[in-house]
Formats: sequence, structure tokens, C-alpha cells
Amino acid sequence: MKVLNLQCAGQQHSFEGWFASEDDFRNQVARGLLECPLCGAKDVLKLPSAPRLNLGAVREREVAPDGVVPPAPLPATSDMFAPAGAGHQATLLKALRELVARTEDVGEHFAQEARRIHYGEAEHRNIRGRASAREAMELLEEGIEVMPLPAAVKDTLQ
Ligand SMILES: [Zn+2]
Repeated sequence: MKVLNLQCAGQQHSFEGWFASEDDFRNQVARGLLECPLCGAKDVLKLPSAPRLNLGAVREREVAPDGVVPPAPLPATSDMFAPAGAGHQATLLKALRELVARTEDVGEHFAQEARRIHYGEAEHRNIRGRASAREAMELLEEGIEVMPLPAAVKDTLQ
């Protein structure tokens, strides 16, 4: 499963689409099956991939990437989804690094801890740690937002 960040060409609405693969995405666009959920435009573009779970890659390795529970939407969302460019990638990475630096590393207890925080059983704080693909899916299904860390951010963690 691949989560792609999409945007309609007309009004630049950003939204996510879940696809079996990028080929599946291209196929759906070619057949006019995709449309913007906000304005119905069929002119849909794929944005550079943002830090979301890529369960396709995860399934192959049986281990999910390190993830974090974001405290709130990252700042400057519209800038983050601006057309690709080195500057915007750098801004996104910087924001992520700052976010991650403020998280508590809970390691293997990530799923358990994320759930406890979500249901108010643990102090509300931002955490990072590891989860299996299945755990990550279950968290998402429960409405608990998790986000994988791109390698460029993980590399800065010790
Ligand atoms: Zn739109």
C-alpha cells in the first residue's frame, strides 16, 4: 500500500490517496477515476512524497520504520506542499528534525504508548519509537496518527 500526497491542478487542494502502487495511481489517473475530494477536479498531480507510512516497503522488511506521533499539524503546511524544490524539502526536514528532537524515545513500546496517550491513560506527550506494519495499521485504524521518519531525519537521531 502506498500513500501518495496529491493535489488538484486547478485549486491546489492537497489530499491523500491510497494506492497499491504508483502504477496503480497512474492507471487511475489515466482512466479518469481520480478526482479531488474537495472540488471534484480530475486533474490530479502527485506531490513529492511526504513523511507518511509506506506500508509497501514496510511489509517487505516486516519491520516498520521508526515513527513518531505528531503533536499537531506541522507548521507551514501549505509551504510544505508547495511544488517540489530543494528549499521546500530542506524546510520540511528541518521542521521534522525539530519535531523529533522534542519527542520521547519509547522504543519497542511505541504502539502501546501511543494508544495509552490517545486514550488519556498516559501523559500527553510526543513520542517516537518502533512499530510493526500491523501495529501501525491498527493505530491508524483507531484514528491515532502515526508518521514514519524519513531516513534523512533518522540519520540525525542517536
Ligand atoms: Zn480541488
